[in-house]
Amino acid sequence: MALVRVAVPIPLAREEALVYEIPEEDTPEVGLRVLVPVGPRRVWGTVLGLESKRPDFRVLKISGIPEPRLVVTPELLELCRWVADYYAASLSDVLQAAVPSPGGLTRRAPRSAPEEETAWLAVAPPVREALNEEQRAALTVLEGAVRSREFGAFLLFGVTGSGKTAVYLHAAAEALRGSGQTLILVPEIALSPQTLDSFRRAGFGRVALYHSTLRPRERADVWRAAAAGELDLIVGTRSAVFLPFRNLRLIVVDEEQDSAYKQDDAPRYHARDVALVRAQRLGGVAVLASATPSLETFARVKQGRCGLLRLPRRIDGRPLPTVRITDLRHRASGPEASRFLGAPLVEALARTLERREQAILFLNRRGHSTYLQCRGCGEVARCDRCDVSYTVHLADQTLLCHYCGAVRKLAPTCAACKASNLWFGGVGIQRIEREVTRLFPLARIARLDFDATRKRGAAASILGDFRMGKTDFLLGTQMVAKGFDFPMVTLVGIIVADLQLYLPDFRAAERTFQLLTQVAGRAGRGDRAGEVILQTYDPDHPALRCAAAQDFEMFYEQEAAERRELRYPPFGHLLEIEVRGVKRERVIREAGALCDSLRSIARGADVELLGPAPKPIARIKGTERWHILIRSGSRSAMQSFLKRALPALHGKRTSGIHVAIDVDPRHVL
Ligand SMILES: [Zn+2]
Ligand SMILES: [Zn+2]
Repeated sequence: MALVRVAVPIPLAREEALVYEIPEEDTPEVGLRVLVPVGPRRVWGTVLGLESKRPDFRVLKISGIPEPRLVVTPELLELCRWVADYYAASLSDVLQAAVPSPGGLTRRAPRSAPEEETAWLAVAPPVREALNEEQRAALTVLEGAVRSREFGAFLLFGVTGSGKTAVYLHAAAEALRGSGQTLILVPEIALSPQTLDSFRRAGFGRVALYHSTLRPRERADVWRAAAAGELDLIVGTRSAVFLPFRNLRLIVVDEEQDSAYKQDDAPRYHARDVALVRAQRLGGVAVLASATPSLETFARVKQGRCGLLRLPRRIDGRPLPTVRITDLRHRASGPEASRFLGAPLVEALARTLERREQAILFLNRRGHSTYLQCRGCGEVARCDRCDVSYTVHLADQTLLCHYCGAVRKLAPTCAACKASNLWFGGVGIQRIEREVTRLFPLARIARLDFDATRKRGAAASILGDFRMGKTDFLLGTQMVAKGFDFPMVTLVGIIVADLQLYLPDFRAAERTFQLLTQVAGRAGRGDRAGEVILQTYDPDHPALRCAAAQDFEMFYEQEAAERRELRYPPFGHLLEIEVRGVKRERVIREAGALCDSLRSIARGADVELLGPAPKPIARIKGTERWHILIRSGSRSAMQSFLKRALPALHGKRTSGIHVAIDVDPRHVL
């Protein structure tokens, strides 16, 4: 019997791994996934190495090894160690997020590749001559970088509809000519089949999808096939950044600005940043693609740490849509007027219907109205467990909390004073749906949002109908903004553009700019020109002006100036320490005590502590949330502070109190 150290996904006090016995005949290689007993349970763990010293307690035997085996490659194990170190997470948590848990221990014949396999054939991407001048120029640079076998990072900065996919498709073909593999990261599962199809059509045969809704066994199959070099290209969401490869040459991060790349719970890694680190370690090429790059990425470009490849025009000479701003403060009133749709938008919708074209209406808010208020006593219906008001879902006659999912029946009278004078405040997408149905009774209308797509396959069917022209107007939340390509959409209406602008988060303007540019980009992708109508109560806001002008660089300059002054990312580094618990007083006391010890650790270091303060939404699901923000102009100062603070952060707590560490937080809400 040999002894091995195994990383297991349970909270361990300081120890990185537990020791187990493994039968000698089971060559215990480093990185091997094994099933091990922990208390009454059996969990999947990863062998980190041999243990020479027999401990003075009884050592348990491992329960089993999956067949075929699943092995974390040395390169990947090192990457996981880097992630654990940088994000102050435990290695076992990182491995748990990174490596699939095999479905079981049954022996069966390994399937070579999860997708269909073709006798191998040369890949024939669409002819190079079909690319426009800028696409060809970008491709030449990327091909050179892929061939060089040295690290290169590039921002592929192309307006919506500029043909970014065609460029990295050719770059992947170049990687393949040198027997290299390509990984394409996409922010959402819904976008992955569309992306994979374009590679299939170009002749890529050994391809696979990898995302969280695959069954454990399917994930394990893709994992093994990638490690064995049996796949040339994988399209996947966030955790695909941890797939093993034989010869990974190219990593593309599509829509690199998307916050879905950052994981919300431990390990709180950012897949784009991990992709950059991985490419650097491998001597590979990282391509970050976007029409609205994150400030982080564009700052890299400005600092000369990332190459810039521009695609300033749409393919086939199609124009960018024209954008008109409607000021919602001065709109006509009267019986015919709509409360939420200004005259320009109503007229444009009528025109679209007449010409048998299609429109997308966008409002980033679910439900019918955002709050229910009693006009008798002023009471607003609020969730008992969260610090927010209930959203009214009139179609189901319910009040719904969007944070914890609590549901209440919508009563005809006020719960407090029994008055029947109830007021629906604020506007949600379902209210717009009613309004548009009233104004255009003959139009075929569909809604795409979280509520309409809860049933499996519902999203695909709504999108499929719209693509086939069975729907005239598609209404939706941010789900309609993402990457879809509908050639018959000539009008995009943004119902209220400034909804997210005043959230207490320093990225609010950036997110608004990105979302508006993305949704505007859905218009005019076919042969007919597109029009965007942007309704707002704040037409002079710089972020809206820049979005209307579709001018990212103007937006960057303005936003960068503010962030630089406040030392916010990307001109400073943030670390958020969140203290949570059910008992409010305990949370406040612990946050205060923790902050005091952090302050003494920070003394003399180039870091600044803000707080402790309640988070802007101070209670979610019955949990009180306070936070401490730490800001520094220097990454190394921040990292060394964090190292020194770890004992305090991981120290003993009052029962029921949890402390979470978020390095480079995406949201401070
Ligand atoms: Zn009342
Ligand atoms: Zn709630």
